[in-house]
Amino acid sequence: MIKLENLHKNFGKLEVLKGISTNIQDGEVVAIIGPSGSGKSTLLRCINLLEVPTDGRIMINGQDITDKGTNIMKVRQDVGMVFQHFHLFPHKTVLQNLTYAPMKVKGVSKSEAEKTGLELLEKVGLSAKAYEYPNRLSGGQKQRVAIARALAMNPDVMLFDEPTSALDPEMVKEVLDVMKNLAHTGMTMAIVTHEMGFAREVADRVLFLDGGVLVEDSSPKEFFSKPKSERARDFLQKML
Ligand code: ADP
Ligand code: MG
Repeated sequence: MIKLENLHKNFGKLEVLKGISTNIQDGEVVAIIGPSGSGKSTLLRCINLLEVPTDGRIMINGQDITDKGTNIMKVRQDVGMVFQHFHLFPHKTVLQNLTYAPMKVKGVSKSEAEKTGLELLEKVGLSAKAYEYPNRLSGGQKQRVAIARALAMNPDVMLFDEPTSALDPEMVKEVLDVMKNLAHTGMTMAIVTHEMGFAREVADRVLFLDGGVLVEDSSPKEFFSKPKSERARDFLQKML
């Protein structure tokens, strides 16, 4: 479903991604792991064109999104993204956060968007908060709204950039549970995370990035029990 071919990204002279190649299959859940500054966020941001790759190709469903003729808005409709700091619209209610883009970008009717929005809120356990404003929610609730909002666009794939890193410890589980349920529905997911237990349990595959290089691309079982590289062994020792 997603094919990365020799993906490079530079910021000026800084080479952040140094030729990443891998595939993500339809329905696959991939955990992206690595030290701070290794290029994990940049990689995700390239997949929905928040960053323009310097070189290489990204194919989504057979379409080269790095091609000049690509409709960036269409790519972003099909690729949902969830950020560490939620990025909810503060002046809209929870339900309005969910209905805004489907109505504005996809031309969905208000009643249809609200129906879908309320269904999604039920799925993430937040039906009772539909008419609240984001500042009345806990961090875990905000992140569940952000996930529901991304799903409201009916994306083909969901990208998560450290979705639980900004949360108090007691709220991490409620967000990971929503993500786990989503994984079980067959959603294609790429998740940058430091939650090793979650990666081990939920991911089909682990990508280990270090210094802009894809150092390991393996099953969680292999990665966590016998990492091939010294760098991954070092990293895991610090994490676990
Ligand atoms: P990670 O998510 O693994 O911590 P990032 O992808 O955020 O890593 O960053 C990788 C490197 O790229 C870092 O050195 C960071 O400072 C740099 N970088 C990221 N975004 C930009 C940017 N917009 N401009 C310049 N440098 C950037
Ligand atoms: Mg990052």
